[in-house]
Amino acid sequence: MKVLVVNAGSSSLKYQLIDMSNEKMIAKGNCERIGADDSVLTHKAADGRSVVVEEAMPTHSEAFTNVIKALTESEASVISSLSEISAVGHRVVQGGMGFTESCLINEEVIAAVEKFNPLAPLHNPANILGIRACIKVFGENVPQVAVFDTSFHSHMPAKAYMYGVPYEYFEKYGVRRYGFHGTSHRYVTDKVAELMGKDVKDLKIITCHLGNGASIAAVNGGVSVDTTMGFTPLDGFIMGTRSGSLDPSVVTFIAENEGKSPAEMDALLNKKSGVLGISGVSNDNRDVCEAAAAGNERAKLAIEMQNYQIIKYIGSYVAAMNGVDAIVFTGGIGENNYDIREAVCDNFTYLGLEIDKEFNKEHAHIKGNSYKISTDASKVAVFAVSTDEEMVIARDTLALVK
Ligand code: ADP
Repeated sequence: MKVLVVNAGSSSLKYQLIDMSNEKMIAKGNCERIGADDSVLTHKAADGRSVVVEEAMPTHSEAFTNVIKALTESEASVISSLSEISAVGHRVVQGGMGFTESCLINEEVIAAVEKFNPLAPLHNPANILGIRACIKVFGENVPQVAVFDTSFHSHMPAKAYMYGVPYEYFEKYGVRRYGFHGTSHRYVTDKVAELMGKDVKDLKIITCHLGNGASIAAVNGGVSVDTTMGFTPLDGFIMGTRSGSLDPSVVTFIAENEGKSPAEMDALLNKKSGVLGISGVSNDNRDVCEAAAAGNERAKLAIEMQNYQIIKYIGSYVAAMNGVDAIVFTGGIGENNYDIREAVCDNFTYLGLEIDKEFNKEHAHIKGNSYKISTDASKVAVFAVSTDEEMVIARDTLALVK
């Protein structure tokens, strides 16, 4: 059975075709600049063949049509007809309080997801565009499944998800912590349990997804009980371009003194802050590390801030769960940057945590792999795991379709 996994953005459409009989990716690709004249589709088969399609794709429908052509009749085709695809799994960013699990998509589900558009204005409408375009191309008979970034965090206790603002805003607008990156936190949680040979129900795990966007979750017995991202992905610690949490007065102060509107403040905090805003160099961790190594003080500060804030969140989650059995690093930075893993772990020797620094360094780039980087004597196991959000979506899709 082959499952197509779709992640639709406002002007992009990423996809992977996965053979669920062996959980191997067959092909993947990305349509970029949908809506512009110079749209481009880059499609790659797992055996190395690839094809690039450059033509205007005014909407996600044309993008999908090109994806299907690439899959079925291009030089890098991997299936002979659309009928080989049994189901489609869609990433949906915001499932609000209604979607605590993945579900089969019907008109009712689409309407419910649309209701959450105000909570994720950049993501949910785009996800729906992807779903609609897909239904148009595949017809009603191919089942479509929605897998939400928020579902894994939807069992957090109220004490963790409520903000200290008047209760009416929770009732009126659903203002609360939702958390994101749920599929990644879920994937690495299960992976760690598997690597430890234990039932996830018996483990306290802290999962650190460190990418351009980044979040940490406290997972107790397989349930996310707290996480750093909140009402939106802006909350938590400093990321590539996002500020992470700060004294809310900073927002009103800058807005007042710089004459900025709410939308401008939103852009400032989401796109110009974080590691980019502090370093003035880049949002990309590699560039910032290079600049820091060359002596750039602000780049060094950005890295120190990031490490320090990550350490503080991990420490607070150890407290929240009254202990921790394992810590796991994932995401582009967590999977590749051994310095961050070492710097963070160095601050938890009081827990009896010890990593094998040489091994950690040797396994800097772990693409597609998972390693235990702590020593056998360590009281807390530490892992670097290559996340696979597409696989979670494909597995959920398969389970629901079956
Ligand atoms: P997102 O999916 O949030 O866009 P990723 O998980 O792809 O982000 O992570 C992107 C980040 O990972 C970038 O900051 C990038 O510099 C970092 N990264 C990727 N590869 C490496 C590497 N080899 N060494 C250090 N950092 C890396």
